[in-house]
Amino acid sequence: HAKATGKGRVQLYDVSMRADATRRRQIEEGITQALDEGDIATHYQPQVDMRTGRIVGLEALARWRHPALGWIPPSEFIPIAEASGRIVEIGERILEQACRDTLALPVELPVAVNLSVAQLAREDLAETVADVLLRFGLPASRLKLEVTESVVMKDTRRAIATLKKLKALGVSISLDDFGTGYSALSYLRSFQWDELKIDRSFVRSLDSDRHSLSIVTSILELAARLDIGVTVEGVETEEQVALLTGAGCRVAQGFLFGAPVPASDLGALLARGGRAEGETRSTASVAA
Ligand code: C2E
Ligand code: MG
Ligand code: MG
Ligand code: MG
Repeated sequence: HAKATGKGRVQLYDVSMRADATRRRQIEEGITQALDEGDIATHYQPQVDMRTGRIVGLEALARWRHPALGWIPPSEFIPIAEASGRIVEIGERILEQACRDTLALPVELPVAVNLSVAQLAREDLAETVADVLLRFGLPASRLKLEVTESVVMKDTRRAIATLKKLKALGVSISLDDFGTGYSALSYLRSFQWDELKIDRSFVRSLDSDRHSLSIVTSILELAARLDIGVTVEGVETEEQVALLTGAGCRVAQGFLFGAPVPASDLGALLARGGRAEGETRSTASVAA
């Protein structure tokens, strides 16, 4: 179609479109092999109590190193896998890895796993989760499932019904990227969330935009009144820690406390976390 109008810009656009389509197809077609060969790994980011510096939980994040394309961010391959439905298998694999890896730790930390729209749309999601927990032996109380508002928006009534089934298993349910959606407040009415994760866009703008701190403070108050826990995402600087703890935030996730790492690095991360507190590994488990 670029041929008709000709000339640089249009043609470049066309070429990059075709490159995008090729990359997308490579990613789509690579998923089968990735699942077969175990190329989709799970990394873990610590969630930290900012007052003590202790690790109080982990978030499992999908990581994929494609044989030809290299590292592909989840923000790129998750939507593609979502469109083809393969996300259901990927999600189950991540859940299994999260169970296995957390159980191998010397401390009893909870682990958070992200759910996609396609997973939440499945009638058998709660059965699948129950089955994985049973097979691996992870107590339901140590699993948190994170959904974004867009995941709930798809078919709200059904999504909420499924979340209730999951909650009945004893699993905690978190509302991820809180504050970035369209009508977050109505979702607070329709379901008893266990946790809100304040989106990192609020943290990023803390020092430049005075409204951000007011918003974070208000979310904390709202959550406290509704008996919902709060984790703040994307903490990168000590200044942000000072502002956030001043506002009453306790639990945070962010590069300042640690980027996502492979399971094999968790032992060292936990040992270091314990040492910073002058604690041993065994007493670090008290935090969980
Ligand atoms: P999310 O669930 O909100 O995960 C947090 C994202 O923020 C992660 O990006 C993490 O690496 C990044 N992050 C953490 N701390 C900082 C920080 O201090 N600064 C900045 N700039 N970023 C930080 P990641 O791993 O690239 O994942 C992006 C999104 O992809 C996730 O957002 C989640 O929505 C989705 N995702 C990742 N893994 C999975 C999965 O297994 N299943 C599903 N359905 N979605 C996943
Ligand atoms: Mg998340
Ligand atoms: Mg998030
Ligand atoms: Mg996100």
